[in-house]
Amino acid sequence: MSTTASWSDTIVALATPTGIGAIGVIRISGTRAIDIINQLFPSKDLHQQPSHSIHVGYLKEVGQELDEVVISLYKNPRSYTGEDVVEIGCHGSPFVQQQVIEACIRQGARLAKPGEYTQRAFLNGKLDLTQAEAVADVIASNTAASQRTALHNMRGGFSQVLKQLREDLIQFSALIELELDFSQEDVEFADRTKFNQLVQGATDVTAELLQSFKLGNVIKHGVSVAIIGRPNAGKSTLLNGLLNENRAIVSDIAGTTRDTVEEIINIEGIQFRLIDTAGIREHSTDTIELIGMEKTRQKIQQSDQVLYLFDVNTETPATLAAATDLVAAANPNVLLVGNKTDLLGANEAAAKFAATPGIIYIAAKSNQHIDQLKQNLVSKVVQGNINTENTIITNTRHYQALQQVAVSLADIQAGLHNHTPGDLLALDIRRCLHYISEITGDISNEDVLDYIFSKFCIGK
Ligand code: GDP
Repeated sequence: MSTTASWSDTIVALATPTGIGAIGVIRISGTRAIDIINQLFPSKDLHQQPSHSIHVGYLKEVGQELDEVVISLYKNPRSYTGEDVVEIGCHGSPFVQQQVIEACIRQGARLAKPGEYTQRAFLNGKLDLTQAEAVADVIASNTAASQRTALHNMRGGFSQVLKQLREDLIQFSALIELELDFSQEDVEFADRTKFNQLVQGATDVTAELLQSFKLGNVIKHGVSVAIIGRPNAGKSTLLNGLLNENRAIVSDIAGTTRDTVEEIINIEGIQFRLIDTAGIREHSTDTIELIGMEKTRQKIQQSDQVLYLFDVNTETPATLAAATDLVAAANPNVLLVGNKTDLLGANEAAAKFAATPGIIYIAAKSNQHIDQLKQNLVSKVVQGNINTENTIITNTRHYQALQQVAVSLADIQAGLHNHTPGDLLALDIRRCLHYISEITGDISNEDVLDYIFSKFCIGK
């Protein structure tokens, strides 16, 4: 949002996607919203109607009908933005919608900028910044876990945790300030043991939030998994088994998967992007395969998780060890999967590779133990349960500010330990509060706000 945008303007935008649909919703917000629609909706005076009411009728401009619409009325402050809001449900024709928007503009509204409705909601105190950001996350959510996390934060789950942190610190700060006022008398009003407990509590909460960011990233961005292995190990078969459809080419000829294929699957609400690659071959002279190999190497390095698939019949403990070393040098997050146990037998395979722990044995062709493999993938990336009831940090901005909170808390703790004078402790506490306020938006810089809201779509 440009700094020249005036918050006193009344704004209008299409809130639904552009294109033909059953209906389209146009939203208008601001002090003149009701006046403007009154000019176009002759059947009723909306000023006389209660908030949260709906009205059916024709929109007309200088006698010309634009559409038959359903109008929803929200009077300030009981609306999304906190201003007067009118939502017009019109027919889903881009032409009709354009006509309605233009009519609103002729009556004095201007087109909204991306995220301007949510930014107004934030500025009017309807949401704090973490909630506003969660609105965008809800819109972008594409799995059950990302949806739950975003909804939790939109409802103020994260804000609640921060509010408690802040209250604890303010209590701490008040005690320190009191002590400072009486410093001449050399009195220690505040009980330093209680201080330590407060700071320790805040430190623990912050550490937990920081810790959750790893899972938050997984939930928000998914996990990339490179499936690698020698030609004919069964990579394409496994990929197909995981996808339950036959998209990748399966063939008996070694090295036919020359390029990489990326497919998305959902396990326990987490998105896994599976990347099939050409197999690793140490002495290949086939040039196409060499390109494939270079690509393979890159994919291994860039992936969150590597799945090394091998044929338990042709691989030997020695070749497995050599291949694992090679892969692990590029990426240490390797899951070893032994395939084709239908030929050798799972027990025999386990005995053959007894020296290497943690191998999962499957038979990709007959879909045996694929569920076990999926479970293993989830626990590898999640490390514990996915408890989306707790607050999970998914936003880098929050993570960076929380790191600063943690540093400030560590300084306070050290200060308490070293009997640092109260005025210095008070400074550290203020610094800590500053970073918390940055997350919630109580202290905000216009550039940061512009950046955050510019990521929203128009109409939100
Ligand atoms: P890729 O080169 O690693 O992609 O291997 P493919 O998926 O193309 O499989 C190579 C061959 O192994 C094909 O003929 C598959 O049918 C066969 N194959 C894959 N998985 C299994 C399995 O679990 N058991 C058996 N017996 N054959 C398999």
